Amino acid sequence: MLEIRGVSAGYGRLEALKSVDLTVAKGEVVFVVGPNGAGKSTLLKTVSGLMAPSAGTIAFNGETIAGEPPERLCCRGLALVPEGRSIFRTLTVEENLSVAAMIRSDRDAAAADRERVLDLFPILRSRYHGVAGHLSGGEQQQLAIARAILQRPLMMMIDEPSLGLAPLVIDQVYESLRQLNADGLTLLVVEQSTARILDLASRIYVLRNGHVALEGAACDLADGH
Ligand code: ADP
Ligand code: ADP
Repeated sequence: MLEIRGVSAGYGRLEALKSVDLTVAKGEVVFVVGPNGAGKSTLLKTVSGLMAPSAGTIAFNGETIAGEPPERLCCRGLALVPEGRSIFRTLTVEENLSVAAMIRSDRDAAAADRERVLDLFPILRSRYHGVAGHLSGGEQQQLAIARAILQRPLMMMIDEPSLGLAPLVIDQVYESLRQLNADGLTLLVVEQSTARILDLASRIYVLRNGHVALEGAACDLADGH
């Protein structure tokens, strides 16, 4: 579904990605892990069109996407949940979901889509009329993911979904990712910490200094440690 071949990218003279190869097949949950500064965010930025690679190719469903603006990617079925949670903090949960749903659906379809994500994230139902900026960190992350789902993507990229969350809250967020994947959504997830990803991951890429240092199935990488 996603094919990244020999992609390099940087900031001025700093090369943040050095000839990275990475693939995501339909139905997979692929994790990219690595320490701070490894190039994880830069990788997501190049795939989501926020940054142009200096070399290499990126294809989504067989079509080249490197250099395409983010709003085009959304129409192709590729959604991004950026680091820091893309929600409107001063709007209510209902308003956040309504705005996201209207991007792709007519009024009836939007209402049905909204019900579907509320079933998936029951906590958002109980906070429906609350202001998004007042939600807990975990609730805001679920709202950000819910907003991305309303674009009806084939694949979703998520930057550090567990950042700043308590372990139990991470479990809830990961459980919702598991459900989404079971419903057919392909996932590319970037995380700094590896502790909780082994159950969910189909494959894992370890990024270090812009290189893919290690790649493999979750069970193989787990055996090695
Ligand atoms: P990660 O997401 O794995 O922490 P990043 O992709 O953010 O890594 O960063 C990779 C490298 O690029 C780091 O050396 C970082 O300092 C540098 N970098 C990231 N963003 C910028 C930027 N906007 N300007 C200059 N250098 C940057
Ligand atoms: P977490 O540890 O999961 O991040 P928080 O301590 O941020 O949780 O929030 C706990 C609860 O308090 C949540 O249900 C959240 O909705 C509510 N809450 C947090 N901040 C505010 C606020 N400024 N106003 C109203 N409710 C809040």
